[in-house]
Amino acid sequence: MIVVCKPGTSRERVETLCQWLQRFGVATSPIFGTGMTVIGLVGDTSAIDMETIALEDCVEKVMKVQEPFKRANRHFHPDDTRFAIGDIEIGGREVAVAAGPCSVETEAQIRDVARAVRASGAGFLRGGAFKPRTSPYSFQGLKAEGLRLLSLARQETGLPIVSEITDLGQLDLFLEHVDVIQVGTRNMQNFELLRELGQVRRPVLLKRGFSNTLEELCMSAEYIMSGGNDRVILCERGIRTFEPSTRNTLDLSAIPMLKRMSHLPVFVDPSHATGHAWMVESLSLAAVAAGADGLVIEVHNDPRHALSDGPQSLTPDAFDGLMSRLRTVAAAVGRAVRGPQQASQPARKDERTTS
Ligand code: PEP
Ligand code: MN
Repeated sequence: MIVVCKPGTSRERVETLCQWLQRFGVATSPIFGTGMTVIGLVGDTSAIDMETIALEDCVEKVMKVQEPFKRANRHFHPDDTRFAIGDIEIGGREVAVAAGPCSVETEAQIRDVARAVRASGAGFLRGGAFKPRTSPYSFQGLKAEGLRLLSLARQETGLPIVSEITDLGQLDLFLEHVDVIQVGTRNMQNFELLRELGQVRRPVLLKRGFSNTLEELCMSAEYIMSGGNDRVILCERGIRTFEPSTRNTLDLSAIPMLKRMSHLPVFVDPSHATGHAWMVESLSLAAVAAGADGLVIEVHNDPRHALSDGPQSLTPDAFDGLMSRLRTVAAAVGRAVRGPQQASQPARKDERTTS
């Protein structure tokens, strides 16, 4: 952080300011120029409020030279973060694909979709049980029963489960049934929830708020990581822009930018980004070409009758086609996508990552 003093500030005033700044636990390094003086603050400045310093009478402006997040920051952790979930290494060579319905609706539906997406090569089953819907009159999810049905589908297929938590009170249920806890776009800055997820040892899929910057996304990851939970996946899922023809605007540049800012794995959700099933394949291919470590894709066995997000949901056949074309793109950029899997036996043991 750099503090620029107002022109004409006396040397004595700069020195008393330095002493005051040192109380924040940083070293100060003043540079006295002919017209103006600047003070470099060296050390951990993450807890220092720039506004407080700017209130001092002799301060012209305060500038950050480093991002305010540390644990999630590429500077402090130059290597990519990789961790295993089941038999997939997140952030490794393989592109992880989580597929499944927006909402869990019935046992038959979730089992059907789970079998189908697994057969096409998905590594995770996604499914919402607690649905944060814009309208209180829309289907709100099967809640605890939905999580139980996801567990059944996991037992049958071996696919680890990704599902969204919306309230801290649900945490025990999630630890029982869910392998990757999703924080949705609307809760990206629910700091109490994030802090609590820092206390558990379950991977978190953190979706970007639809009006949040990439730095804010990294700060939210920092909330989780500062509690000791390092297994955070960042997820771009489209942001609000002035363009009405898609549900959101997929910010593809977020992928290389996040990879530069952070060492955490980056996933992309092209379904919520566009709202149109017909756009999901091309944006999935683009996301992997741009360096995404994983995709989250909505798949429904009967999209026309889905209780939520039918228009953006792929049929199992369309998903299968997407996966085969994704393999070609992944290979072209030195990545791999799991091949079709036999439908008869589970992909992996029923062994949930410890909490
Ligand atoms: C979802 O994944 O079902 C969902 C609601 O996503 P988002 O939070 O990105 O809208
Ligand atoms: Mn959805």
